[in-house]
Amino acid sequence: ETRTLTGVRLYVFAVIEHTTRRIRILGATAHRTFTVLDKTGTGTEGKPVLTDVQPVGGFDETVLLRLVAGAEADSEHPLAQAITAGVRDRGLRPLAATGFGSVTGKGVQATVAGHAVLVGTARLLGDVGIDTTALAPVAAALAAEGKTPVLAAVDGRPAGVLAVADTVKDDSAAAIAALQRLGVDVVMLTGDNARTAAAIAAQVGVGRVLAEVLPEPKADEIRRLQGEGRTVGMVGDGINDAPAPAADDDGLALGIGTDVAVVAADITLISGSLGGVVTAIRLSRATMRNIR
Ligand code: ADP
Ligand code: MG
Repeated sequence: ETRTLTGVRLYVFAVIEHTTRRIRILGATAHRTFTVLDKTGTGTEGKPVLTDVQPVGGFDETVLLRLVAGAEADSEHPLAQAITAGVRDRGLRPLAATGFGSVTGKGVQATVAGHAVLVGTARLLGDVGIDTTALAPVAAALAAEGKTPVLAAVDGRPAGVLAVADTVKDDSAAAIAALQRLGVDVVMLTGDNARTAAAIAAQVGVGRVLAEVLPEPKADEIRRLQGEGRTVGMVGDGINDAPAPAADDDGLALGIGTDVAVVAADITLISGSLGGVVTAIRLSRATMRNIR
């Protein structure tokens, strides 16, 4: 019985230590802290929608959509789901695909109805020597509107650009302004292309953007920010996020949303909005003042 009691006591102390450590980090002195924001699902709703289809070189729009949807059918990426749903909503069925493969942070490839189809970033197409000059201005115009351009090539030739858009959450701009007043610098970290990220960042008032960062180098970017002598809090929805900094490195992971994926976070804000980060920091600072 005594042993059980000791165990319980140790557990309670561990929980308190765990919690105060997080509050201490979160309540850290102003101007030392960075909040790194995963663009999708935190600054934005995380519900991307297919908005545009622009074939090039006389490619048929319906065929393009069915080929692209076929290639994306087996991808779990939120962009792929937006594309396949958008194609179905237009009353079209994806063509059957074989040999599906995904290239992390870049896109997908598959053989669809006998055609070699590539769908993703300019880098994905460029990597296999496809000339993207015909697609670049179309993609740039869509990205300037804050949409994510998705480039498609069929049998080694550029076929068109699709665009997927995610709406900015209503209160994101106000929350980011409040964070900045608290002395917290906000940085956006995303795998999305630089123009799209810059357009979204401008809408929500984020000044520093690290875009086109592949999943692995995301962790390096976080370590680099920590190297600037800052405390880094990573805010994400846990879906396909960057590897978060650990509390042991004076970092914190803040999960936003009710999704199961946020269980990996140090602190979970179920409100699903960035305003929760502001509240958490204010509360932590007040708690630290009381402890002192
Ligand atoms: P993030 O989660 O920060 O948006 P990802 O690493 O998931 O970054 O993706 C980076 C980019 O790679 C996307 O913005 C998109 O352009 C491209 N991409 C990734 N997966 C796909 C896919 N299945 N279809 C089309 N494009 C994709
Ligand atoms: Mg992602």
